[in-house]
Amino acid sequence: MSIPVFDGHNDTLTQIHDAKGEAARSFLERSGRGHVDLPRAREGGMAGGFFAVFAANRGWEREILPVTGPDGAPLAGAWTVPLPPRLPRSTALSYTLSVMSDLFRWERSAGGAMKVVRTVGELERCLAEGTFAAVLHLEGVEALDTRLEALDVFFEAGLRSLGPVWSRPNAFGHGVPFDFPGSPDTGPGLTGAGKRLVRACDRLGIVVDLSHLNEAGFWDVARLSQAPLVATHSCAWALSPSPRNLTDRQLDAVKASGGLVGINFHKGFLRSDGNQNAEASLTEIARHARYVADRIGVEHVALGSDFDGAVMPDDLPDVTALPSVLEALRSAGFGDGDLRRVGTGNWLRVLGATWGS
Ligand SMILES: [Zn+2]
Repeated sequence: MSIPVFDGHNDTLTQIHDAKGEAARSFLERSGRGHVDLPRAREGGMAGGFFAVFAANRGWEREILPVTGPDGAPLAGAWTVPLPPRLPRSTALSYTLSVMSDLFRWERSAGGAMKVVRTVGELERCLAEGTFAAVLHLEGVEALDTRLEALDVFFEAGLRSLGPVWSRPNAFGHGVPFDFPGSPDTGPGLTGAGKRLVRACDRLGIVVDLSHLNEAGFWDVARLSQAPLVATHSCAWALSPSPRNLTDRQLDAVKASGGLVGINFHKGFLRSDGNQNAEASLTEIARHARYVADRIGVEHVALGSDFDGAVMPDDLPDVTALPSVLEALRSAGFGDGDLRRVGTGNWLRVLGATWGS
């Protein structure tokens, strides 16, 4: 009997929306492209997950550049990734509506095989009945106005999770860069609008995802929110010093709040040298999960694959290899009960506490 996995983060919705021409594919049909579609998710035991809408800057490509020392020579093992400029709200809003409509169209076309879930009751029913459960997530809230009027509309449409920022700054806060190595302590905390956003999310019952937020913003959320702290797709900074990963102090705060860390599958956040272009095995995922479980407890560990938005380990070509991730966790000492918590149980607890029942 396989253990179902509810995934903390994927970019499948955005990726399929953007894939045109030769690259086009459907979520409902099996494809050899990308990491996730419904048939492959079923085969891999993925029961559902957070589906991110990420409004990117047109034409921006992630470029990895060397960091130079005082003598002008490149520093070994260090690089920087220039971030794109701020995204205008009008661009982000029309794009976000377009991607969201795809998710609802998938749901309508799936003939009951998938559902956009808005409550823990709905999520539990989906898990029990084998219906694929999608949670709508905004990765960066460039589409929102600072009066938070659009937030009400998005919430009523089904939005149940958001990251205030992707890595570029916006009207609500500041994200971490992808530079390596680096601390997540990279600038000021949330803006006034960002603080109002966190309070509004608490009131409405929307997850505030900390994964791309810088450290000052993280501590602002920790102070302002009554909800469990959640980083849907990050790893342990002690094992891979990327600003996208969580320091021990941040992990301890997640524990104190009853929160959750979804371990990211991206090579660049798993490997100790941060090199996304070098080889990596999915056993690295288990190494991070073990570290986080040992430090703050297995009840605060989940998975946040970053499928369709990141560079996967070489032995994890797509979601059908998810059982191998569970096997690696088993080899790292996670028993059946632990795997059920990591797979779905911890999410049900944290979403229940955040969304209300
Ligand atoms: Zn992300």
